[in-house]
Amino acid sequence: MKIICVGRNYLEHINELSNQVPSEPVIFMKPKTAIANLAFPVYYPKFTDDLQFEAELVVKICKNGKRISESNARQYYNAWTVGLDLTARDLQSKLKKKGLPWELSKAFDNSAILGRLVPIPQDADINATTFELFVNGEKAQTGYVKDMIFSIDKIIHFVSQYVTLQMGDLIFTGTPAGVGTVLPYDNFVGTLNGETLLEFEIY
Ligand code: MG
Repeated sequence: MKIICVGRNYLEHINELSNQVPSEPVIFMKPKTAIANLAFPVYYPKFTDDLQFEAELVVKICKNGKRISESNARQYYNAWTVGLDLTARDLQSKLKKKGLPWELSKAFDNSAILGRLVPIPQDADINATTFELFVNGEKAQTGYVKDMIFSIDKIIHFVSQYVTLQMGDLIFTGTPAGVGTVLPYDNFVGTLNGETLLEFEIY
C-alpha cells in the first residue's frame, strides 16, 4: 500500500504558509513505513527542531483503479478517519529553498499518524463533513470538507491519471489552517463529525 498526500488544499492554510494557490492538486507520497504503530511510543525525531502537526481527513481506497473519472470516484473509497501529516518544517523549508523534493521532511518513520478508520455511511453528506484537532485539550484546527480546493473525488481523478490506486491505499487530503509546532509530551485528539477517532501522544 501507499500513502498519497495532498498539499495546499485549503486556502487559509496556503495563506498561513505564504504559499501560492495551486491550479492542480499538489501531490506527494509517504511510504508504508511512515505509519506509526500507536501501540508503541512515538518519539520526537532527532533530525528536526520544528516538528509540526497537520490534521487531515484521510480516506481509504477500497477498489483498484486507474484513470478514474470524477463521477465514478466515490466508488473507490469506503472508510475514513482523521490523521496527522507530521512534517519536519525546518527541513522542508530548507529543501524547498533549494528547489529540492520535500520527501525527507514528510516521509520519515512515524510521520503518518492514523486515527481509527470507520466506514463512510452510504448516505453520508461528504461535503458537510467536519473534523477537529485538539492539542492538550485545546482546539487547534477545524476542517470543513466543503472548503477543500480539490474535492476527494477530484483528487482521486487527478492522481489516478498518473498512479494506479490499489485497495488499502490511503489519501491524506490536506490540512486546514492552524498547523503548529509539536512539543514532547503533547497530547492530540482528533474527531470526525464529532466522534473521537484519534488519540496520540508524542514523547
Ligand atoms: Mg499535509
